[in-house]
Amino acid sequence: MFEKTTFDSEVFCSGAFRNYMETAMPVLVRYLDCNIPKGVNVHDPSILTEMARELMVGDTGAPASFDGVRFCRILNLYMHTGLFVHTPGSMGRQYSGTFPLAAVTDMVSSVVNQPCSFYEASQLPCVAEKIMASELNRFIGFDSSRFAMLTTSGGSLANLTALLAAKNHKYPGCLSGGLSACCANGLPAVAMGEDAHYSLVRVVEVLGIGEEQIVRLPLNEKRQIDVNRVQETLDRAAVSGLDVFCLVASAGTTSVGAIDPLEELAEIAQENNLWYHVDGCHGASLLLSDKLRPLLEGIGRADSISWDAHKMMSVPSPCSLLFYKDRETAGGAFRQEASYVFDREPAIYSEYEGGSMNFECTKRPMIMNLWILWAMHGRTLFSARIEQLCALCMESYHILLENQDFEALHSPQTNILCFRYRPENLPEKFPYSLFQQEIRKRVCCAGRYFISKTDIAGETALRVVIMNYGHTSDNFRELLQEIRKAGQDVIFEYKNISN
Ligand SMILES: *Cc1c(COP(=O)(O)O)cnc(C)c1O
Repeated sequence: MFEKTTFDSEVFCSGAFRNYMETAMPVLVRYLDCNIPKGVNVHDPSILTEMARELMVGDTGAPASFDGVRFCRILNLYMHTGLFVHTPGSMGRQYSGTFPLAAVTDMVSSVVNQPCSFYEASQLPCVAEKIMASELNRFIGFDSSRFAMLTTSGGSLANLTALLAAKNHKYPGCLSGGLSACCANGLPAVAMGEDAHYSLVRVVEVLGIGEEQIVRLPLNEKRQIDVNRVQETLDRAAVSGLDVFCLVASAGTTSVGAIDPLEELAEIAQENNLWYHVDGCHGASLLLSDKLRPLLEGIGRADSISWDAHKMMSVPSPCSLLFYKDRETAGGAFRQEASYVFDREPAIYSEYEGGSMNFECTKRPMIMNLWILWAMHGRTLFSARIEQLCALCMESYHILLENQDFEALHSPQTNILCFRYRPENLPEKFPYSLFQQEIRKRVCCAGRYFISKTDIAGETALRVVIMNYGHTSDNFRELLQEIRKAGQDVIFEYKNISN
């Protein structure tokens, strides 16, 4: 006979919730109140392990009871060992501070714990997914009676699921016969731009297709897929024995935020009878703005689109959306029977369930975080912000042009800007890439700004993502000043060593 123990009720009861909430609340509010630029302090992982271990109760005879002080110390350690995404110093990643309403809702999701894939367990999330699908599809323009949308834990998984559907659609025998059913016309292959996100390479590998079966499409000077060279590249692939079944365009590349010419690529995909996937993880959010939507002209001709709401829409990560033009082909990604969850008879509920199209079984109801923002504030919450971020990025580009010791690498199409510091006194022998890398390291270590880097045409560039709601052009000016200082320090030290 088991007795209900006191510690059980103590850690499970609503009082525990109240204790933890009331302890966390002021700590989090203080965290959010900080709006001076802060970069990141990177701790030695072994030291951090020690610090974390010190905060653990260890092996006690019975579960320890509530300890607000210990809890606060753990929260503080958590908050201070990552990017300070809420401060304008956070300029290096495609995610940033999130809307508090969405953050609170995310916590609610943990309380009610309704993993969503099946209607009965998570009715509102399933309905919210349907609502958001049709709200967002207004801007894509898929046939509303045929399209489908599901949420996935991250854009990488959205890309994987889409390409799996593509493969199964193009090779109908594949679900039963595996890859051997895909090779009648050559080795299955996928075409994508030189700057396509690395997840797509992994996707191809997961599908059992080799890296040699990735057909890389050359870019133009704006780092978009060069539409004038696509057909010849596809023809050459065919001659070499590849059977390209899918063309991937990027709507906002990760490196520079370039948007491929979606309309022209749709035309080419159609002429060549290819599945057309638009990786809109970064940039599909531009659809929400009347001003920026024209940049994505042609996206409605895609067979599938991936879209990360945890990037420009500032929803807690992950929250990714995968749209299919046609529900029938979407269903082709997976085929399975599991009598414990899937109904054999079509039910009124299954219409509302993403479970059959989705790799994930237990899945976070991430749609709630997006839907609640949409429900409480409406679309303009997003469009206004996204327009502001892109405008600030353009302004930063112009600031860059005014500073002769900087080299701008592209005119930004979205909110990502890449450049290099190139002072006149840079010693000729100093490797240019290494110089940028060293600058980045020092700027980040200085603790005010966190920026990233990327390789462009084989050479390292500094990369900023204008993502923060508190960011102003003064922050960018200050960043340039920090870069200049770091760069000059590097040159000074280099000259001293080589003399
Ligand atoms: C971020 C990104 C991805 C990957 O999405 P995750 O949500 O990080 O898994 C894929 N493609 C592009 C273009 C991206 O920017």
